[in-house]
Amino acid sequence: MSAESIQMIAQEVRSCTLCGLAAGRTHAVPGEGPADTKIMLIGEGPGYNEDRQGRPFVGASGQLLEDLLGMAGLARADVFIGNVVKCRPPNNRDPEPAEIATCTEAYLFRQIEAINPPVIVTLGRFSMSLFLPGERIMRIHGQPRKVGSRLIVPMMHPAAALHQPQNRPLIEADFRSLPAILARAEAEHVAAKPAPEQPKPVDDRPPEQMRMF
Ligand code: SF4
Repeated sequence: MSAESIQMIAQEVRSCTLCGLAAGRTHAVPGEGPADTKIMLIGEGPGYNEDRQGRPFVGASGQLLEDLLGMAGLARADVFIGNVVKCRPPNNRDPEPAEIATCTEAYLFRQIEAINPPVIVTLGRFSMSLFLPGERIMRIHGQPRKVGSRLIVPMMHPAAALHQPQNRPLIEADFRSLPAILARAEAEHVAAKPAPEQPKPVDDRPPEQMRMF
């Protein structure tokens, strides 16, 4: 059932015109991976190569991501890889808040519900901010946080390691910690049980403005 839901969402994404990013794209990038995976990785948005191919994390960032997954004993085919926004922002600019809100409500949050992973790895600050608003990536990268029924693991975007080589040991260490984090999540059955209480907000916004998973 979840595989069907993922396919249905992907079809909707490919023809979506809900926000202005549709006008400049070559291909929308729904995301890809097994519907029964235990780990979702969520990046920011498609870049040039992703827009051309309609697939997430191809090109140099994609190769690095595959290398990093290998350090965690994982292959690309083991995880679902998606993005906050599914269409490439012009000239790789940051996605705007309205674009993020529209796209995540329409697609990403439905993908998360369909897959129901115990672990979500956020890649970069836009993805992290969906779950851990107000946090700073350099302060909390690699530290799993329980949000609702899942463990959220904030990590730097692989592009940050490509552009700033001093970041590479940090992101490699974070990926190497993934097997232990996944074991913890599965041991706690975090995806199977409802959270006993609401997670504490990590910023000053009232809880109703934060999305709980
Ligand atoms: S970015 Fe998302 S909401 Fe905007 S057009 Fe693309 S798929 Fe639709």
